[in-house]
Amino acid sequence: MFSFNSIKEYHAFLAANPTGCSIAVDHYLSKIKERAQLNAFLEVYADEAKKRAAELDADRSTGKKIGNLHGVVISLKDVICFKDHKISASSHILENFTSIYSATAVEKLLAEGAIIIGRNNCDEFAMGSSSENSAFGVVRNAVDESRVPGGSSGGSAVSVQAGLSMISLGSDTGGSVRQPADFCGVIGVKPTYGRISRYGLIAYASSFDQIGIFANTIDDAALVLETISGPDDFDSTASEQNVPSYSTLIDQEKKKYRIAYFKQALEHPGLDKEMASTIQTLIQTLQKEGHIVEAVNFDLLNYIVPTYYILTTAEASSNLSRFDGVKYGHRALLEKGDGLTELYKKSRSEGFGKEVQRRILLGTFVLSAGYYEAYFTKAQQVRKILSDLTKNIFAEYDAIISPTVPTTAFKIGEKSEDPIEMFLADIYTVYANLVGIPAISIPLFKHSNGLPFGLQVMTSHFDEVTLLTLSKQMMQLKQ
Ligand code: GLN
Repeated sequence: MFSFNSIKEYHAFLAANPTGCSIAVDHYLSKIKERAQLNAFLEVYADEAKKRAAELDADRSTGKKIGNLHGVVISLKDVICFKDHKISASSHILENFTSIYSATAVEKLLAEGAIIIGRNNCDEFAMGSSSENSAFGVVRNAVDESRVPGGSSGGSAVSVQAGLSMISLGSDTGGSVRQPADFCGVIGVKPTYGRISRYGLIAYASSFDQIGIFANTIDDAALVLETISGPDDFDSTASEQNVPSYSTLIDQEKKKYRIAYFKQALEHPGLDKEMASTIQTLIQTLQKEGHIVEAVNFDLLNYIVPTYYILTTAEASSNLSRFDGVKYGHRALLEKGDGLTELYKKSRSEGFGKEVQRRILLGTFVLSAGYYEAYFTKAQQVRKILSDLTKNIFAEYDAIISPTVPTTAFKIGEKSEDPIEMFLADIYTVYANLVGIPAISIPLFKHSNGLPFGLQVMTSHFDEVTLLTLSKQMMQLKQ
């Protein structure tokens, strides 16, 4: 029986098994079939994955040097382009659209020998916190199938949670990697804005979006991160900064860190009491281990969700204007007498789901003459204040810790009729995207209700080394 713990152990297995990649792929294909009711996959590339596995096995037998991700079985959220494969953003508007190129991150995975096994279901255009907004059915949490896996990268989180792939790539605009990672009990990392190229990632809110990684271990996340990071001629926002060797640097000598937490975050009335006290206990443990852990003030906590939803919907209304039935996407059948306006209206009304329509309308509203100053400009000002505050915090601290989400995974349908309540679930995650810092959710805890929950760690821009090193140390505390 094949089992997967880490890429390192898997590579040791491959060294002893000439058909190891094929064994792994067969294992995942049967797992995906077995857990089909989770609805984590929109498409599985069975034949292609088998063929690639056989080729990789053959490469090994000739003694060829193997890539960093040789044979690693990876799934992709349905917003990340893979050439000659369908991509729909889990929306009817892009149903049957085929990518004409691969995302830079995907090119880099393939260059290191990864096997792409399929595409994962998600909230439509990555808008949501529960994976209930997919046009192709809800995704189910593998721990309790009556509950959501979080969102928007729910299919990706479940894929790693239920052992349907070794790694999955998602996207995180306001928490869509960290929040489902928290609900599913896996690792979810969103690097610094600009660390990974966004070329080939379907845009939701371009100044917030980052590709993120789901994994079982920090070492695996580090290895994938260093593989897919770096500058890119196709994305001017991808940083030129050197990519450190995360996978080796995280094993550096144990350091004592200066860690901050937001007082208002831990005392927030919306935070589950048991989760708050569990995190308080962790703070004491960290202090006993010799770290400095201190409360800092964060008066702006209640402003960050509105700021996030004003700015991201504004960017979305612009980014999604290309899906109009002419340039891209579903085109409605017209009736006699219909003109261009009807073509746009009907195509977009038929193609987009309720949540995406709500956000396009909201974004168009906050950008409209007469409201622009009151909403959009003001939100930009809050974003600037948050950036200044963040600089001050990291002048004194190495990291900030917080809950990832205020509650454990909720029931399917529980919040779907109340968008405001759903938006508030993003209270701890959107901050990292507003200011562009790296953040991770690590699966440290289990609630007395039986569900997992995570701790969020954030560090300064481009300090993924501290982010991953500290996270690895905390994961070891758990054992
Ligand atoms: N839940 C947030 C939203 O709906 C985050 C989405 C994301 O990160 N893609 O906007």
